Amino acid sequence: MSAGLRVAVDTDACCAMGRCAATAPEVFDQDPDSGTVVLLLAEPPSALHETVRLCAELCPCAAITVTEN
Ligand code: SF4
Repeated sequence: MSAGLRVAVDTDACCAMGRCAATAPEVFDQDPDSGTVVLLLAEPPSALHETVRLCAELCPCAAITVTEN
């Protein structure tokens, strides 16, 4: 069984670049008004773990936190 992964976002830190939503649209969206991140899946399936880790690394505002458990 693969380890779990939990995603959290900090909308105050988010600078609304939309990189996460473009990279992993299954997990992240953008608020239509503010452009800030909207978390769609806090516990994404294992097939998306690598992509979600990449989103956290690439976020220019360090607004995405990934916790492995
Ligand atoms: S990549 Fe980071 S700054 Fe850009 S929308 Fe996503 S959480 Fe916000």
